[in-house]
Amino acid sequence: MKIQAAVSREGARHPQIEAVEIEDPRPGEILVRIVASGICHTDIGVHGRPGPRPFVLGHEGAGVVERLGPGVTDLAPGDHVVLSVNFCGECPSCRRNAHSYCYEVLPRNFGGLRPDGSSPLSQNGARIFARFFGQSSLATYSLADARCAIKVPADIPLEILAPLGCGVQTGAGSVIHSLRLGTGDSVAIFGVGAVGLAAVMAARLVGAERIIAVDLVPSRLALARELGATDTIDASSGDAAKIIRDLTRYGVSHSFNTANAPIAYTQSLACLAPRGVAGFVAPPRAEWAPDMFHLLSGGRALRGILGGDTTPSLFIPMLIDYYRQGRFPFDRLIKYYPFEKIAEAFEDSTTGTTVKPVLRMPN
Ligand SMILES: [Zn+2]
Ligand SMILES: [Zn+2]
Repeated sequence: MKIQAAVSREGARHPQIEAVEIEDPRPGEILVRIVASGICHTDIGVHGRPGPRPFVLGHEGAGVVERLGPGVTDLAPGDHVVLSVNFCGECPSCRRNAHSYCYEVLPRNFGGLRPDGSSPLSQNGARIFARFFGQSSLATYSLADARCAIKVPADIPLEILAPLGCGVQTGAGSVIHSLRLGTGDSVAIFGVGAVGLAAVMAARLVGAERIIAVDLVPSRLALARELGATDTIDASSGDAAKIIRDLTRYGVSHSFNTANAPIAYTQSLACLAPRGVAGFVAPPRAEWAPDMFHLLSGGRALRGILGGDTTPSLFIPMLIDYYRQGRFPFDRLIKYYPFEKIAEAFEDSTTGTTVKPVLRMPN
């Protein structure tokens, strides 16, 4: 079958929409008609770095199941699904439902091929790398690993639900599962893009006493305040760690860093009270080393987090319930673009003009 897909090619500034061929579902796979796909910074980062090419990215797909491959029994054609991270299902992490720490997380999500080395996409007989996060959702159809699909209620538009697959789930899961924030805790959130704002909403949801948002973009800080931040700090106004310590006397019990500037790592550690934990979701973009004495002297911890430590099949339906109750209004982060405006969506995400771009597919 011929579909439209956004293809990342060597040296191109943005993915280009091209006609490609998609295979029929093999065992354990599903064909999903993509209704919408979010764009996450990981798409932009992978597009800009050397790797498998040509490659169809996209890992926040939402759509309708059209066909099932052999052996898929827990889904049916017509089901609405959100696509999330891929995993092997058999390694020690998967057996503990810690899917984002699957021992095969890199090949299964970034390798561009099925475990047997084949790809479901091609163009004039030439291979196109796909299976990004098991889905490659920047396309009108996805041949996804059925493990990635989370069935969602059909009465909420899929274009709203798409970002639950990665960014929103990561921000909320980091606060709820990884940092285990609770009543009376305080958190400083560095970088309030989609992941950081989801963290702000989750921190309010669990009853954190103080939620401090740090960012350079005034419109994002204003949104953070509307979504639950008790304090906001313009990162250009001085040493954010010192401002946080002044606000809280001893520092915060937790920090959550979604930025990749080395200064954000330094400050997210320096703002911690003794026994505080600093979570982060991306590697620093330049050389950085923690202040080991500060870590040691207060029993502080620095904690890497992937995917918010969630089990998507449990966590995504829970977030949808909170959304229905009006307690997790993540749709406030979204701006929609038609699929053909993918270049504009990439640019607006890079500059921070748009918090969460979601592409609507012409299906
Ligand atoms: Zn695994
Ligand atoms: Zn992502």
